[in-house]
Amino acid sequence: MSTDNREVRVRFAPSPTGPLHIGGVRTALYNYLFARQHGGKMILRIEDTDSQRFVPGAEDYINEALAWLGIGIDEGVREGGPYGPYKQSERRDIYRRYVKQLLDSGKAYIAFDTPEELEAKRNEIPNFQYDASTRGSMRNSLTLPREEVERLIADGHKYVVRFLVEPGRDVEVNDLIRGKVTIKSDILDDKVLYKSADDLPTYHLANIVDDHLMLVTHVIRGEEWLPSAPLHVLLYEAFGWADTAPAFVHLPLLLKPDGKGKLSKRDGDRLGFPVFPLEWHDPKSGAISSGYRESGYLPEAVVNFLALLGWNPGDDTEVMDMDELIAKFSFEHCSKSGAKFAFEKGKWFNHTYLQNLDNARLAQLFRPVLAEHGVDNSKFSDDYVAAVVGLVKSRINFVRDLWDNARFFFVAPEEYDPKAVKKRWSADMPAIMTELADMLASTPDFDGKVLEPIVMQWIADKGYHLGNVMNAFRLTAVGECKGPHMFDITDLLGRDETVARLRAGVQRIQPAE
Ligand code: GLU
Repeated sequence: MSTDNREVRVRFAPSPTGPLHIGGVRTALYNYLFARQHGGKMILRIEDTDSQRFVPGAEDYINEALAWLGIGIDEGVREGGPYGPYKQSERRDIYRRYVKQLLDSGKAYIAFDTPEELEAKRNEIPNFQYDASTRGSMRNSLTLPREEVERLIADGHKYVVRFLVEPGRDVEVNDLIRGKVTIKSDILDDKVLYKSADDLPTYHLANIVDDHLMLVTHVIRGEEWLPSAPLHVLLYEAFGWADTAPAFVHLPLLLKPDGKGKLSKRDGDRLGFPVFPLEWHDPKSGAISSGYRESGYLPEAVVNFLALLGWNPGDDTEVMDMDELIAKFSFEHCSKSGAKFAFEKGKWFNHTYLQNLDNARLAQLFRPVLAEHGVDNSKFSDDYVAAVVGLVKSRINFVRDLWDNARFFFVAPEEYDPKAVKKRWSADMPAIMTELADMLASTPDFDGKVLEPIVMQWIADKGYHLGNVMNAFRLTAVGECKGPHMFDITDLLGRDETVARLRAGVQRIQPAE
């Protein structure tokens, strides 16, 4: 493997068989981080050779998800590039040529066994696999006379092309995370590389040919592909491409948050978190699966969260934006063992990124939530909404949580928390609050900083109970006894609204016995 002087070229190679899983997103992200770090190229290749499993909309979904997360693609179906087409179903001619090369050089052969014949063999031979020990008793170009093979093909019999795995070989797989693993070729079967039925290669052939032709230097993919690696090593060799074969990097599995085993969609449903980047509407069943975007996550938070599932920067830094991740990423600090999908940590990242978000931008994200709750956005200025979110954002994990914390800034309370009323609205409160309203209506300056000492002085002069008076005041403005600092609230509500709420409270709140 002499990848040293070559431009780093990586590819994310999803199959459009459904929504991109969050594990796939992490794979894309690591590819992207590595490419950017090395000033290399990131390819998006659509591996759609399995026509049976093709799902409409899946390719658009992949593009949209990557774009949302800021995972940029240099070469791909949409982006174009010098090594296209980037969709495998458009590369049939290329694959046919390479299948022929393997057949001509005796590295592969044609097999006619029908599914029924294969099934019969499986029943006859325990742990049957198509390999050196069995291929001699099967119907293929190694056992049949040449003329018969030609006749069968000419008569339109369906066939597959199988890779001829030589037994007794040690196959070395070098993985930049896992190190070197040697396996015996005897355990491999003669994998199908091509099917005449749909004139398409299988994943293995298309994947190897494309990685070669697209000058891929590093194959960074999920652990589930590790078992394919020995076969791929042998394929590179069979083609005579061993010298430029890409380095392998198999990323650790994403595990269930609460135990062993692979993360699944069911874990998400069970524990209440999305396993897809974007909401997915299944075209067949119509079922909707939740997505990070629609659940209120910021893309930056999702990126940061995913980056740390299987990698660490070598210290305990957690909050890193894309540029920092690009600078710090390394395979050396990727783990071999699976990474627990700590979705609560994902919420924490979202909380943290929301705190760091500019109030003006957060306000824009809040506008649609306000509209959903029936608020007429045109009545509130950008400055007002920004100031409101600035006051309450420390309490939220998601943009939508802003509503519960800030609704009273947009709608006057119609009801008053009965517990708070019982505790704070004693029989003397209507008179005291009327007094306060009269005072607030006429103070020369309504600025909170000026107002606060005036109100404090008034409470002291009258000998009122500070806690009771301030909480009753809050009750009229908020409807309950929570929220930010009272004089920050009055600053935003303004004099007229504050006084109106005080008077409405006096009218409407029934004093406790
Ligand atoms: N098409 C495979 C997938 O869906 C690609 C595996 C690889 O990256 O080699 O994940």
